[in-house]
Amino acid sequence: MPQPQKVYDCTIIGAGVAGLAVAALLAKDGFKVKLIESHSKPGGCASFFRNEGFRYDVGATTLSGLEEGQPIAELIKELELDKVVYKNKIGTEDKETSLRLSHSKRGIQIFQDGQIIHRYTDKEKWINESYKKLISNKNIDTEKNHRAFWNELYRIEKSAFKILKVHKNLLPNSFKDYLSCLAPSKLLASLSGLTHLPQLYLPLKYLLKKYFLSDETAFIKFLDEQLIISTQNNTEKTPIFTAALGLTYGSSIYYVYGGVNQLAVALQKRAEELGAEILMRREVLQIDIITQSPVNLSTKNNTKNSLSEDFSKTYLIKDKTGEEHLSHKIISNLTFWSMAKLTKGETQNFFQGFVNKFSYDISAFTIYLGLNTNYIPPTDYAQINLNKQIQHCCSHSFYISFSRPDDEIKASEGGLNIIISTHTKAQEWLNLPEEEYLKKKTETESYILEELFNTIPELVKEDGNTENETVQSSIELAASESRISLDKIRYKIKSLISGTAKTFLHYTKRKNGVVGGLPHSVDYSFFELMPKKVPNENIYMVGDTGFPGQGLVSTVYSALSVRESL
Ligand SMILES: Cc1cc2nc3c(=O)[nH]c(=O)nc-3n(C[C@H](O)[C@H](O)[C@H](O)COP(=O)(O)OP(=O)(O)OC[C@H]3O[C@@H](n4cnc5c(N)ncnc54)[C@H](O)[C@@H]3O)c2cc1C
Repeated sequence: MPQPQKVYDCTIIGAGVAGLAVAALLAKDGFKVKLIESHSKPGGCASFFRNEGFRYDVGATTLSGLEEGQPIAELIKELELDKVVYKNKIGTEDKETSLRLSHSKRGIQIFQDGQIIHRYTDKEKWINESYKKLISNKNIDTEKNHRAFWNELYRIEKSAFKILKVHKNLLPNSFKDYLSCLAPSKLLASLSGLTHLPQLYLPLKYLLKKYFLSDETAFIKFLDEQLIISTQNNTEKTPIFTAALGLTYGSSIYYVYGGVNQLAVALQKRAEELGAEILMRREVLQIDIITQSPVNLSTKNNTKNSLSEDFSKTYLIKDKTGEEHLSHKIISNLTFWSMAKLTKGETQNFFQGFVNKFSYDISAFTIYLGLNTNYIPPTDYAQINLNKQIQHCCSHSFYISFSRPDDEIKASEGGLNIIISTHTKAQEWLNLPEEEYLKKKTETESYILEELFNTIPELVKEDGNTENETVQSSIELAASESRISLDKIRYKIKSLISGTAKTFLHYTKRKNGVVGGLPHSVDYSFFELMPKKVPNENIYMVGDTGFPGQGLVSTVYSALSVRESL
C-alpha cells in the first residue's frame, strides 16, 4: 500500500461544473488544491462525447446566469475564462479555441396545441405573446392580471439575483453565517431576503389564484412544462420564489459554441493553470478521518487564508487505483446518496439523514441526433409540449437544442446537431435484461423523433426554409392527416444515440443515474435542505444536490458560496 506523503489544503471530489469552479477559485486564492474525478472527461452532467463528427453535450445545453453580477458571469470574469485557450476537434484537426458565448436573442420556440409560442427574450414582447397565445378569457381585467403575474415574477427574479450577488452565504447554516447577514454591506440585501420568505413556502398556484388565472388551462399547461424543465416540479409544488427563477430564465439565455461542455473544459484548463492538481479516472471509494497531523504542503506565500488553525483534522481519501490522498478540507461535488456511502460514523449519519428524508428518482431520457440537412432552425432552443405522456417517461414535453450553422465544433458543414431531453424515472431503465432495455429505449426514441419531425417537418424536408414558412408548414401539417414516418427519413440521420438513467450513471456516478438536482418543493422547507458544510467537519458540499435550483447557475453559485466560507 503506497504511503501518503503530502497533505493538501483542499481536495475536491468530482469534476462537475461545481467541482471545477471551486477548484479553480481556490487555486486562485492560493490554496494547494487537488481534484479527483472518476470519469475520463470533465463536466459530469455538463460533459460531452463525439459521434460520427458531431460533438454532443451529455446533459446541459443552455446557459443562463450571464447577466452582470449573476453567478456564471461572475465566475467567467473572476477566472477570465474567456481568455483560456484549449484544443477542440474541428473536422479531423485539433485547433486552438476559447469559450465563445452568444446571446440567444430570438429566445425559445414552444410548440403547444398546434400553435408556436415565441418565448421572446424581451419582457414586453413575451408578456404580449403569452397573453395572445395562452390566455383564453380575453378582457381588460385578465390582461391586467396576466401582466401583473409576469411583472411579479420578474421583480422576484431581479431581487433574487441582487441578494445572491451580495450574499454568498445562502443558505445560512451557522451562527457565523447568520451574523454575516447583519454586516452593514449586507443588511439591505438581508432585509430584502426576509420579504421573500413567504414565496419560499407558497406554490406558484397561489399566485395564479391571486391573479385570477387558475382556470386558464393552456397557460397552466405551458407553465407546468416550463417548470418541469427548469425546476423539476410544477405549478402545484414549485415555490413562487423558485418558479420566478425557472420561468424568467428564458429572458436571458446563451448559446455556447461547441456546447455547454466548453465551460467545463475551460474551467479544467484554468484550474490547472492556477496550480490545481487534477486526477482523472480515479473514483473515490472511501473517506476516513485521521486525527494526527501529517506533513503539510507549504501553501503559497500570497495565500489569502492560512489553514494552520484547521490542521487538527486530516482526511484520508482512497481512490479506485488504491492511491491514498491526504487533505485538511474536502469539498464534495457528489450527492448525499454518494457521500453516505463514502463516509463513516457521525458524518455518514449526517448524510444518511438526507437520504432518509428525500426520495428522488428522476433521471433524463436524451437523444443525440446528427442530421444531414441545410435547414437552419430559427431559434437555438425549442420545446414541444404534447397532450400525452411520452412513452416510458414522466413528462408531456421535450426540450430541443440545435447547433448553429457556423458552429464547426458541434457539427461539420451540412450537419445539424440536435439534442433532445425529457424526464424519466430512473427505475424505468435499471436492472432490465439487455433485450428489454434496448426495446424500451428504441420505443421512446422513435416516439420522440416522430413527434419532432411531425412538429418541425422542415428538419427533414429536402430544402431548408425561412422562419415564416416554418410556422406555416408546421401548422398546416398539424391540421393535415399525413404524418412523417421515421423509416422514410432515416437516410437523413448521420448519427443517433439515446441516453437513459444508465448513461447518467456512467457520466455522473450518481445513485441510479438520478439527475437534475434535488427539486425545491413546498413539501419541505428551504431550511431543511442540506447545508453546505458538515457540522464539526471540514467537509463542504457543492453542486446541484447541495444547492438546489436552476441547473448550472445554482451549481456555480454553490461553488462561489463555499469559496466565501473558507
Ligand atoms: C439532460 C439534462 C439537461 C440539463 N440541461 C441544463 C441546461 O440546459 N442548463 C442548465 O443550467 N442546467 C441543465 N442541467 C442541469 C445541470 O447539468 C446540472 O445541474 C449540473 O451540470 C450539475 O453539476 P454538478 O457539478 O452539481 O454535478 P455533476 O455534473 O453530477 O458532477 C459530479 C462529478 O462528480 C464525479 N463523481 C461522482 N462520484 C465520484 C466519485 N466517487 N469519485 C470521483 N468523482 C466522482 C462525476 O463523475 C461528475 O463528474 C441539465 C441536466 C441534465 C441531466
